[in-house]
Amino acid sequence: MAGEPQADCLFCKIVAREVPADVVRETETTLAFRDINPQAPTHVLVIPKVHHPDAATLAAAEPTIAADVLREAGEVASEEKVDGTGFRIIFNTGSGAGQTVFHAHAHVLGGRGFNWPPG
Ligand code: AMP
Ligand code: ZN
Repeated sequence: MAGEPQADCLFCKIVAREVPADVVRETETTLAFRDINPQAPTHVLVIPKVHHPDAATLAAAEPTIAADVLREAGEVASEEKVDGTGFRIIFNTGSGAGQTVFHAHAHVLGGRGFNWPPG
């Protein structure tokens, strides 16, 4: 059923605390933890606790939780003090765009310069 935990999903296991993570923030609906393979001095993932395969699917099914993820991304940037210099919120969507974990997540990246267009 949409939103239910998936037995084979790494991020559902992190939500259930079956897999450890370096958690930096938690709300009733979201969890934020450091990426295991950071691509910037600040690289935090913000995920909904409910399982949806990507951000757009989450937003269509549970828009208030999608908004929670975005708000928390901003809170992470503020706590990490990267909001002044600018930061990125990235939702890789689909394997062709680099998505490897099919549980919606925002990458919050900051603490260095970024190029445009992205690679
Ligand atoms: P994506 O490629 O957009 O699906 O992002 C998945 C992210 O999850 C990658 O940046 C990985 O480095 C990260 N990742 C994979 N396993 C873990 C883990 N156990 N704890 C924290 N981050 C992870
Ligand atoms: Zn999941």
